[in-house]
Amino acid sequence: MLYNMPTKLYYGKNIISQHKDEMICGEKALIVTGKNSAKITGALDDVISVLNEFKIPYVHYDEIGENPTYDMILKGRDICLKNECDFVIAIGGGSPMDAGKAIAVLTANPDLIPDDLFDNNNYDVSLPIVAVPTTAGTGSEVTEYAVLTKPNGRKSGFKSNLIFPDVSFLDPIYMLKMNKNLTLTTAVDALSHAVEGLLSKKSTPISNILARESIELIYRYLPKTLEDLENVEYREKLAIASTLAGMVIAQTGTILPHSLGYRITIHKGIRHGQATAIFLPLIAKEVKKENPKKVETLEKIFGTLDNFEIFLKKIGTYNFNIVFTEEELELFSEEVMNSSHIKNTPGNYDKNKIKEMYKKIAKI
Ligand code: NAP
Ligand code: FE
Repeated sequence: MLYNMPTKLYYGKNIISQHKDEMICGEKALIVTGKNSAKITGALDDVISVLNEFKIPYVHYDEIGENPTYDMILKGRDICLKNECDFVIAIGGGSPMDAGKAIAVLTANPDLIPDDLFDNNNYDVSLPIVAVPTTAGTGSEVTEYAVLTKPNGRKSGFKSNLIFPDVSFLDPIYMLKMNKNLTLTTAVDALSHAVEGLLSKKSTPISNILARESIELIYRYLPKTLEDLENVEYREKLAIASTLAGMVIAQTGTILPHSLGYRITIHKGIRHGQATAIFLPLIAKEVKKENPKKVETLEKIFGTLDNFEIFLKKIGTYNFNIVFTEEELELFSEEVMNSSHIKNTPGNYDKNKIKEMYKKIAKI
């Protein structure tokens, strides 16, 4: 078995200021962010002060929105090429980090179009990538994935060893400004990664250890954090849990809850982590039918799979109202059955079963 995590990860409070030189991966930086979070968290200032100290020029591209699109990354690629930036520093949640990864590959391979990213045989070089997460959820700071929204509205991830960030700086101080809803929706994304990693046909003894630790941290500290948002010690636990869960999916990939959730994010506007986590108990129960051993860790932590669902309910994961039309159910179930996530999910699935899962979620 292989455990592959080539990213150099620095973590802890005020971590950038302690390892400044590690951030300098080239001669001119493209900083990739969303509109606000990099600024309000202080992460952008920390990065810029290092670049200034080392006299590294930079260009700041701040137009990455949630669920980044081809237009956003193509604009970033054009800015990067025009300004001859030779490394990318992505600051923010999964959206700017994933966009930064796509921009790094497209800039190093200017003949590629975004669709080409999805076959990693199309490229063998990328600009170096530095990641500075401001959410505790995606784990993108330690994964070889980037998730983009295609022009047809489908979310899809691409995978390449080249997009493991070269170095990541994980500082819980940047997470203190997240409100309750963002804290919840991002943390349950991390929880989804850890749980899906455990259930996946690709789970390994090492990924299972990381997953168990991640789930325990979230179980213990997410409810506390939701009641005490500016507690940096709690934030640190969730940051570590999220990075551990990223290390899990870097080995196992994600399974059905992610595929089921992508449709809800795009068509119903529910944030990624929440749209995904709502399916975890349903899928865990399906997996148990085929392989009860796979859910033992969950049962140890939560008592039973029903208790796992009760935990998710209590923290507010199911606080939404959605309705599906028959046409939507037909489209979503068709897309899910065609997604790559199916093959690594233990259990038997067909379109009807998938439709039933969506219906159950709408009722909860
Ligand atoms: P996000 O989409 O990056 O950000 C969501 C919102 O949170 C934005 O409005 C953002 O503001 C704001 N925000 C970020 N950090 C903040 C902070 N510290 N304080 C206050 N507001 C903050 O959220 P995300 O959940 O981290 O990322 C989701 C994306 O990652 C999805 O596209 C998902 O598919 C992808 N994903 C990737 C992986 C992977 O392995 N690569 C894994 C799972 C999910 P700004 O717009 O101002 O930044
Ligand atoms: Fe995710």
